[in-house]
Amino acid sequence: MRAEGIDAVRRILCVFPRYTSSFGTFEYAYPLTDGVQAFMPPQGLLLIAAYLPAHWPVRFIDENIRAATAEDFEWAEAVFVSGMHIQRQQMNDICRRAHAFDLAVAIGGPSVSACPDYYPSFDYLHVGELGDATDDLIARLARDPSRPTQQVVLKTADRLDMTEFPIPAYELADVKRYFLGSIQYSSGCPYQCEFCDIPGLYGRNPRLKTPQQITAELDRLLECGVTGSVYFVDDNFIGNRKAALDLLPHLIEWQKKTGYVMRLACEATLNIAKRPEILEKMRDAYFVTVFCGIETPDPDALKAMHKDHNMMVPILEGIETLNRHGLEVVSGIIMGLDTDKPETGKALLAFVDESKIPLLTINLLQALPKTPLWDRLERENRLIDDETRDSNVDFRLPYDQVISSWRKCMEVAYQPEKLYARYQHQVDFTYANRMPLPSTAEQRTWANIRRGLVMLRKIFWKVGVLGDYRKVFWKFAWSRLRRGDIESLISVTLIAHHLIMFARAASGGQQNASNYSMRLREASVPAE
Ligand code: SF4
Repeated sequence: MRAEGIDAVRRILCVFPRYTSSFGTFEYAYPLTDGVQAFMPPQGLLLIAAYLPAHWPVRFIDENIRAATAEDFEWAEAVFVSGMHIQRQQMNDICRRAHAFDLAVAIGGPSVSACPDYYPSFDYLHVGELGDATDDLIARLARDPSRPTQQVVLKTADRLDMTEFPIPAYELADVKRYFLGSIQYSSGCPYQCEFCDIPGLYGRNPRLKTPQQITAELDRLLECGVTGSVYFVDDNFIGNRKAALDLLPHLIEWQKKTGYVMRLACEATLNIAKRPEILEKMRDAYFVTVFCGIETPDPDALKAMHKDHNMMVPILEGIETLNRHGLEVVSGIIMGLDTDKPETGKALLAFVDESKIPLLTINLLQALPKTPLWDRLERENRLIDDETRDSNVDFRLPYDQVISSWRKCMEVAYQPEKLYARYQHQVDFTYANRMPLPSTAEQRTWANIRRGLVMLRKIFWKVGVLGDYRKVFWKFAWSRLRRGDIESLISVTLIAHHLIMFARAASGGQQNASNYSMRLREASVPAE
């Protein structure tokens, strides 16, 4: 439900900050696409934009695509910003630029909700989810859009039921410029992994939209031009298993109705492998990828971080079960755990080989505020505030040893031969298990064909001709071309190219070892 009963009109500029370069944003793949410039449309800011009074003009700018200009700031009466910890410096920079135009600036989203003190310069802090704090903020701006004399902190006590959420204002975003479409069904997770801030921020009892809201959102995404992949950003798609089962038949129907133009992806705990009834329906709804926070193959480490649920089935067996349902597993991995030993890197590389998972986001442990890990390390006096380090954790092993082990893992895991061998396995043993898609008119549009041709031309030139791993690429590419499997050729090459290039930069010391690291890097300079 939109905020109502407001007469004043305010022009709101919503600015989403740039991401610091990271493993999971795929920027090395963008030059091989038909104009992708950013990762996913931000759910939070587009949701707020949709919630504002219908008569308030809203401009949305994603600084991953273009920077907000002086003209944007001159147009606006107030500025809204949202983002994660990794975007902290960029958010503070947007605030500084908006203040140069004497505009009131409000910040919401996960970072400020966990750490209000990171944002001393903002005029309004919106702490928590959409709810009474949002109504209060809108009412205050309606009364007076000028900057308050001191910072105002608004905390959500009464959250808006997710069944009342409006469809995020996807129409304000240039959705074709994004690598993936995004959508959210639920919020919160019932588990309590030691390092994770989701239960602390969003609760342990997942809140839900209705299946009808989701199919309406998918309709809107389609109208806005999203085809290809759509990612469910839910913290855990099976946080409420019954809800997942309720939703899936609607997704299956929607896919049939719209001609299977979307490939779906989500995040879920690995114990999804114990739920064949969910996996079968996911296959029918054309889910193709599941991100699982496997974190580590070491059972003692999983126990210590309270992630025992990853061991409900043996990890390799769980991965194979998902593959049998056509689902490629993407895995989160953490290094620098208290349980790590000098040989942990070697064991991890053995796991990469055995699991045949192509894409693993290998990060160093980082303690996030509002997590049990943060509290424990604080008690143990092991939190380090030093921007020159890649983690704020005082590891049990020497810091340099952890970093060099991380670099070695990145270097070896993403050698082109090894990575493409894992992808070949996915083609043979995972993609082959996907539902054969009917060839529909919706897929054979001229726009889709043109898009495919543009990407193929760039791939052949930049990887197949100029690339230094072109021999490995062509071995894979010929096998796909012979079978007419252009879709796998394109999707694998885009991701593989990013992984190879990012891993080279990482093992050469030019990338952060943690997605949450606050270290300054080139991409985190102001977007002006
Ligand atoms: S299962 Fe995932 S979302 Fe849930 S607490 Fe653990 S890491 Fe966080």
